[in-house]
Formats: sequence, structure tokens, C-alpha cells
Amino acid sequence: MITRRSLLALPATLYAAEPKVVTPAYNTLSDAEEIALGRKFAATLEKDLPILSVSALDNYVNGILTELARKSRRPNIPYIAKVANTVDVNAISLPGGFVFVYRGLLEMVKTESELAAVLSHEVGHIVGRHSANNLMLDFRARQVYEIVKRNLELRNTVIEEIIEKLGGPLVILTRLRYSRELEFESDLLGHYNMLRANWDPAGIVRFFKRLSLSRKDPGDWVDSALATHPDPAERAQRIQAEIDGSRLPSGLTTNTMSFGAMKLGLKLLPAPVRPKAK
Ligand SMILES: [Zn+2]
Repeated sequence: MITRRSLLALPATLYAAEPKVVTPAYNTLSDAEEIALGRKFAATLEKDLPILSVSALDNYVNGILTELARKSRRPNIPYIAKVANTVDVNAISLPGGFVFVYRGLLEMVKTESELAAVLSHEVGHIVGRHSANNLMLDFRARQVYEIVKRNLELRNTVIEEIIEKLGGPLVILTRLRYSRELEFESDLLGHYNMLRANWDPAGIVRFFKRLSLSRKDPGDWVDSALATHPDPAERAQRIQAEIDGSRLPSGLTTNTMSFGAMKLGLKLLPAPVRPKAK
């Protein structure tokens, strides 16, 4: 855990580069409304994904997510992660703190700081309200914004039906890709968040470098959602420059026994589902 002393030891400029999040005028959702939207969206997504409900794994992933969320610039909403049993190397975040981690990612990361890096990036998307902004813009363009807003906190299935009508949650997520700028913003938010939560941000660089290598191997695969992200080598470079320009506190976490236990636990799970042929 980061102590008050180590926080004070950080140079003032370290946090100056942390992006300041501005919510656009077209997103008028309150936190409660955003959480309600995320809950309904997550419910439709869970029908498409083989969700693993293994308490040891859920507790481990949620422990990291919660610690990062607590130290984020948006600590006042609940964050919850579920694990999907597919080989995809991916993680996605929905409005209101809902995160889905794919098993392929858990298999690929080599240290806890790499996993924390990906989760911290997703927390960055939630802090930046990126998916909520995207969805609101899309709903406005499709003239369903008013009906969505009216039904957010009602106990009915109006929003789930709209999501299905628009092609289902995965289609919507693929269509509403984040811009390169938003991805870099999440990387930076994730980087500073990791520092506050005491994980070594070098984990971000290592993960991106490995992702970059795996892309060059035609026998390997990278999930389509990650493939739409900016070049991982470029992302690694940007974060490395951020690290080089900072004086990092000592004692940052790279790995833990719990991470090792999580990796062993993966071997006991039922075989993951392969992605459908594209
Ligand atoms: Zn992203």
C-alpha cells in the first residue's frame, strides 16, 4: 500500500501530467443513471459470454480492481469484474464500473503488475466515462436517447430490448470503438492510478511489448477489440517516457503469491471457449 510518506516523496510534476477528465455536454447521466445503464448493458452481455463464477478467481481480480478504483479519480461508484472463459486476450469496461476480463488475458499476463496495468486502463475508461459518452452519443444519433434516459432506473426490459435491437452488446461495443486519444488517455490515467495504488507501472510496458510481439506471429491471435487499440509498441513507448520522466517511489509491487495462486488455479478450470471463426 502506498504510504503518506511515499506520496509526499513523489515530485509535484509527477501528477501534473495526469489527464483531467471533462465530461461532454451530451452526456447528462448522473452516476446512478450511468450505473443503471451499465447494469442493464452487462446483463445483456452476460448472455453472450461464458461467465466463470469461481469465487477465488473473482475475489482475486476484484481485489485488484477495487484497490485501483479506490485510488482512482472516481472512487465513489462500485466497480465489479467478471471473468469470461474464452481464449481472448481482452478486458472491457462498461458504464458505471462494470468490467469483463477474458481468461486469455489472465493466461497471458506474467506478473500481477501486468494484470493491474490492464485493469487500471479499464478503470481509466470508467473514470473518463468513455463508454457512457460513446453510448449516449450513439443513442442520440439513433433517437433512442430520451427513451433510454426515461427507463434507466425503471424495473423493465426496455433498454435490454433496445440493445438487442441495435445488434447486441458485443456488436455495439465493436461499433463504438474508442479513439486513439481516448486509449492514450486511459493508458495515462491507468499509469498514475497504478502509482497511487502502489503497483509498478513497468508492468504496462512489459504487457504492451509482449502484445506487440504476439501480433507479429501469424499463428497467434489477438482479440479484435484489442486489435482496434493503437499499436501496443507505441503505447509502451509513451508510458516508458512517462516512467523515465518520473521519480518512482520505492517498493512498488510487481508480483505477489496471490498472483501465483491465481495462475495455478487457472489450470483447474474447464477448458476455455475458442472465439467463433470470423
Ligand atoms: Zn482501452
